Amino acid sequence: MSLVAFRFPVDRLAGRRYPEAPHPFRSEFQRDRDRIVHARAFRRLEDKTQVFGEGFSDHFRNRLTHTIEVAQIARTAASALGLDEDFTEALSLAHDIGHPPFAHAGEDALNAAMKRFGDSFDHNVHALHIVEYFESRYARFPGLNLTFEVREGMVKHSRDFLPGERPEFKEYLPGLRPPVEAQLIDLADEIAYNTADLDDGYSAGLFSIGEIAASVPGYGSLFGEVRSLYPEAQDGILFQEALRKLIDLLASGLIEGTRDAVAASGCKDVEDVRRAGRRLVTMRQDAAAATRQLKDFLHRRVYSIEPLQAERRRATDQIWRLFEHYVQSPERLPEPHLGRTARLPLHRVACDYIAGMTDGFFRRTYAREFGSETPLNG
Ligand code: MG
Repeated sequence: MSLVAFRFPVDRLAGRRYPEAPHPFRSEFQRDRDRIVHARAFRRLEDKTQVFGEGFSDHFRNRLTHTIEVAQIARTAASALGLDEDFTEALSLAHDIGHPPFAHAGEDALNAAMKRFGDSFDHNVHALHIVEYFESRYARFPGLNLTFEVREGMVKHSRDFLPGERPEFKEYLPGLRPPVEAQLIDLADEIAYNTADLDDGYSAGLFSIGEIAASVPGYGSLFGEVRSLYPEAQDGILFQEALRKLIDLLASGLIEGTRDAVAASGCKDVEDVRRAGRRLVTMRQDAAAATRQLKDFLHRRVYSIEPLQAERRRATDQIWRLFEHYVQSPERLPEPHLGRTARLPLHRVACDYIAGMTDGFFRRTYAREFGSETPLNG
């Protein structure tokens, strides 16, 4: 069964904030995808940490290569299910553009710093502000003027909300689920980062194949299969062979699990999906189990290791310190950020400025503002 009946009808878009004439050969979702690819915030993903910061290896993922992996998995799933691939691709490419420098440590540090002012930082809100205000490329409007559906998918990336729960998102249909194309992104993201972190962790020498197999039996049997197929091959190659099969298992688990869940839900069209009361995108049971085991393994053997924890602590301290510095000495903010303080609270301006930084720009700024001190990872 294909889900073509649930494909978002691109001719029934809620539209753009500033109306625009149709393009002669690109759909509205293709235009959104292209606008995201041409955004500065998208290019900055290249110098933002995914898990391993600089200094570990030159061929580990950064947030840009991670984003491309998410897009590839999500597009495969959308196309296999008969959904709108362009819609899914646009959302995949945008899904991490609101991330501050230094991955989750950066987000937690900014959020904690903002709490002191009774405010908060959330990368999905920041992503919305980027595409609504901060990108500046059009004479007629601020931001990228993306379709409502893409903006809705961005704010509902990983979590839905009830009416009244997120006042800043009140126009984005609180209480309703996003279309299936948008629901795919969160799980495609998980497949991409779980398998990539396993790959990078193995390359970093953090664990052996036997240790993965003991914790993730699904991976163990895939590895056994490839070893009997290629008994002469080296472990590093067999690791990759089994990893490819693992990505395939998880992606097909996402496709089949979603197809079955939609069939079982009784939903007939996109409107039913919106009102289903829960997300319908889900993984087949074996793939969901492998995902849980993989996450648990990665927490124990990758995310919690001391070198990454040390990097987190350093990133947290330095983000906190730079934030405090701008709140104490706003004249150190460059334009146009300084100008924004006339309209917005200073802590908000400082937070937005830091959130937009790449890891490298943060390090250079920190070194400049605090003089002789060693920059992060310096
Ligand atoms: Mg991601």
